[in-house]
Amino acid sequence: MIGYSEKNCSQKTIKSRNLFYLQLHINNKCNLRCAHCYERGLEHKVINLLKPNEIFEIIEKFQSFVKGFGWKGKIYFTGGEPLLDPNLYDYISSARNLGLVTMILSNGTLITEYKVRKLVGAGLNIAQISIDGLESSHDLIRGPGSFKKATKGIEECSKAGLFTTIMTTLGRWNSKDIEGIVRHAILHGANEFSFGRLVPEGNGILLKDQILSKDELKQVFKKIKKINKKYGKFIRFALHDPLWTTYCGENVTHGCSAGISGICVVENGDVMPCRRLNSVIGNIKTDTFETLWNSPCMIAFRNRDDYEGKCGNCKHITTCGGCRAIAKALTNSEFGEDLQCFLRS
Ligand code: SF4
Ligand code: SF4
Repeated sequence: MIGYSEKNCSQKTIKSRNLFYLQLHINNKCNLRCAHCYERGLEHKVINLLKPNEIFEIIEKFQSFVKGFGWKGKIYFTGGEPLLDPNLYDYISSARNLGLVTMILSNGTLITEYKVRKLVGAGLNIAQISIDGLESSHDLIRGPGSFKKATKGIEECSKAGLFTTIMTTLGRWNSKDIEGIVRHAILHGANEFSFGRLVPEGNGILLKDQILSKDELKQVFKKIKKINKKYGKFIRFALHDPLWTTYCGENVTHGCSAGISGICVVENGDVMPCRRLNSVIGNIKTDTFETLWNSPCMIAFRNRDDYEGKCGNCKHITTCGGCRAIAKALTNSEFGEDLQCFLRS
């Protein structure tokens, strides 16, 4: 086993991490065409798509990378829609055999009882299904009929005893639906509710007017806190969004995972610190996880010394850091400030 150095890592940002994730895009095919999708037109002319043998190799290399640090590794299999790839089950088995935690990020509409049985048989740990509103607002973004199908997907996962988490992309169109979404999730057996803020990236660039202002976000967070209090005994509320975590006063995480606790490989092997942060730092066909981890870009994200504006000068920098993807999309710099932050004036 190779021993890796954590030099260039801020001790403050590094200490709370023991889980490192890889978001692995195994295809670029999807049965939906969501208005906010970060893929810039699915099945577009991607050349050099990863081949199955390359994906198995990436899984093995990732396991050896996290093992080198003594971290627990987790793989999020996604696409496109990962269930459109017949090899998904084998990828999951291979990751589980190597001791990695496995998760799928899915739109949920293709999940059937049979497929859940196969996923569970392969060793899947967690299914994440996107719900972007109650029926009308979800279907507005994801297409007619998709809400009912995704709900069926949640039910099938829940029936099979699979840990199921709902992911909601938060924007103006669904900010009034949150309590309804949480109740819906509980009713259909989901275990966790999580959300991410809309990042105007890919197709989402056309939805800039749906980004919540600071004041609107503050009101929505207040509401989510109340909803959490009311329903927290029935469903877990995830602590993903750095601003949400900071707002809740939870200093238990390092906030944004870019450069710290995750990395993303897209369907042609290009590597990004986070999929929503559209910055390519290398390609996994030619670069190793170790060199990417020590690339100037990852080090800069990790150390947070170059953050600008309010984030650069904030007492929460090591436990929050702001969403780098929002910063990039709205200020044109990945080190800019998170313009949705209402915690600092
Ligand atoms: S200014 Fe940036 S680091 Fe500070 S709380 Fe706001 S988003 Fe987080
Ligand atoms: S850039 Fe934003 S979406 Fe990406 S890991 Fe950081 S907080 Fe999450």
